[in-house]
Amino acid sequence: MVPASPKKVTSTTYKAETLAIRTQTAPTHNREHSAPLYLTSSFTFENAEQARAVFAGEEEAHIYSRFSNPNASEFIQKMCLLEGTEDGFATASGMSSIFASLAPFLKKGDHLIACRSVFGNTHRIITEILPEWGVDYTYVDIDQLETWEAAIQPNTKMLFAETPSNPALDFIDLEWLGKLTKKHNILLNIDNCFATPYLQRPSDYGADLVVHSATKWIDGQGRVLGGLVLGKKELVAKVYAFARRTGPSISPFNAWILSKSLETLAVRMERHCDNAYALASYLEHHPEIESVKYPHLPSHPQFDLAKRQMKLGGGLFTCIVKGGLERGRRFLDALELLSLTANLGDTRTIATHPASTTHSKLSTTDREAVGILDGLIRFSVGLEHLDDLINDINQALEKSK
Ligand SMILES: *Cc1c(COP(=O)(O)O)cnc(C)c1O
Repeated sequence: MVPASPKKVTSTTYKAETLAIRTQTAPTHNREHSAPLYLTSSFTFENAEQARAVFAGEEEAHIYSRFSNPNASEFIQKMCLLEGTEDGFATASGMSSIFASLAPFLKKGDHLIACRSVFGNTHRIITEILPEWGVDYTYVDIDQLETWEAAIQPNTKMLFAETPSNPALDFIDLEWLGKLTKKHNILLNIDNCFATPYLQRPSDYGADLVVHSATKWIDGQGRVLGGLVLGKKELVAKVYAFARRTGPSISPFNAWILSKSLETLAVRMERHCDNAYALASYLEHHPEIESVKYPHLPSHPQFDLAKRQMKLGGGLFTCIVKGGLERGRRFLDALELLSLTANLGDTRTIATHPASTTHSKLSTTDREAVGILDGLIRFSVGLEHLDDLINDINQALEKSK
């Protein structure tokens, strides 16, 4: 990867918040303060000898924006510093990153273990695309540790997990998972989209690969899609080779947006988490709410693990509105301020009803196996004033009675 920063910025000298702001592409002769957008498909060589050296890998330089681009490199470098990983590659979406973190490491005859509650399209890759190519899988429940070790076979190559899970917000012990995969010499691949590196760093526990949908909290403003695969140098080299050939690379514009987004990640996440904690605490005692699930509330079944593993409780919580499916839908229709959309990780607070939308293709039994009851509503808490969020939810609960 071509380094983004002109200064010697290393994770040992500055804190993550500073690194996310100060790591930057070297200024041009215009001496711009904020990195410009590099809309160029290719880069020129000084002469024939430099072209040869770059292609031979003796010199690092950008060649073509499918391989690398200054905006993509800056974004990747910041994320590596935040996640504590050696290297990375950025792609056009979270899904293309997830695919690029699986395809180069799994071949016909290999076996993959994954948590049952993975993101919908990740589920489709694991259960529909990979089996067609001869890669077998076993699903295990996120909170039943003993089943993970029992699922390991001689041909198991990778373990894939999301923690916290969507939308059940269940946790898996990353320290335990790191030790298990090292013991059996299996790659550990973690989708860290829900927590972001500000709240949780899977590589600290031995994750070999960390994948992201940057579309969510990383952008944080609901504007662009993007994704990353981060990890050890030799593993990212395989991801890079796969991506260079197949072309899922991020656009310079999206990388530029996402790199700027990282400058405010810390302050945004603090406020998202404060708002979510306050709103979840308030609703937990509300007479119209049956139950609330938020990682840093003592009522969460894995409260201790959530506290240990995540710096703050995150921006998501779920609740079950009294009155089941119909009441849940009436409640959503009565909301005036909150958005009804399938996304999450936005400045705007979002309410979703997984049973009738994101997880509607699963059977009721499969939904219940991953904790999605009919009355479950997932909130992605934004940056609006807390009073306005409480007032809107209260009026919607009243109206939907
Ligand atoms: C949204 C999401 C994805 C997919 O990301 P896209 O950017 O939409 O392709 C993958 N994993 C998780 C946990 C997500 O929330």
